[in-house]
Amino acid sequence: MENLWSVTIEIRKAHDWTHIDITERKEIEILLHRSHEELERLVEQVKELSITDHLTSLFNRRKMVEEIRKAQNRFEVSGQSFTLAILDLDHFKNINDQYGHTFGDIALQTFASLLRRKIHDLNVVARWGGEEFIILFQNSNTQEIHRQLLSIQDCCNEELLKYRMDPVPLSFSAGVHEYDIQQSLEDLLKRADQALYIAKSLGRKQIILYEKGLPIV
Ligand code: GH3
Ligand code: MG
Ligand code: MG
Repeated sequence: MENLWSVTIEIRKAHDWTHIDITERKEIEILLHRSHEELERLVEQVKELSITDHLTSLFNRRKMVEEIRKAQNRFEVSGQSFTLAILDLDHFKNINDQYGHTFGDIALQTFASLLRRKIHDLNVVARWGGEEFIILFQNSNTQEIHRQLLSIQDCCNEELLKYRMDPVPLSFSAGVHEYDIQQSLEDLLKRADQALYIAKSLGRKQIILYEKGLPIV
């Protein structure tokens, strides 16, 4: 390394002052400090990547599981309930078949951006996998949640997604489940999934609240 500066210290030995050049030591200290900063930056990047879905840049399944577990703990401590919504794009396979997989990817990214725009930061949105997304609402106001999901459904209009100039219809079905009694993560997901299943069987583009399996929203 080119030496642009030098550092010396004065040490008094008996009655004599001696100068010691500590430039090299200072250079090593600076290099170590820079490497440490670089390492911290890389660790942050790796952490970020480990919780991010590569296609949509939403949170991924791992992060969603972590957030659900946190919400379950909050419920145990303070009784604060929360709500989970599983959204599944309708007949998504047709989009891939008709327009190709790359366009399918664009459709997923477009839908993810819509979710990011419409869902308040306090809540958590993740791509659960494939064409499924989960929203963790930090409250249990199911009417308000229903209203928000309908508003997202409304945005899935002919302006949202286009292939060249042609609008491509995109819709989703949703299963919603409120966590208001203690249950396992598996049960929670299973119930939201059951509601989603009903939404699909009722013809899709439906939002169904799980209440002992009954469609009530
Ligand atoms: P349903 O209304 O019953 O949900 O029908 P569907 O066609 O959406 O469901 P199905 O499970 O039959 O198909 C899901 C499709 O999603 C099939 C799969 O190729 C596609 N898919 C999953 N992940 C990706 C992805 O990352 N990119 C693209 N382009 N397609 C994906
Ligand atoms: Mg699916
Ligand atoms: Mg689907």
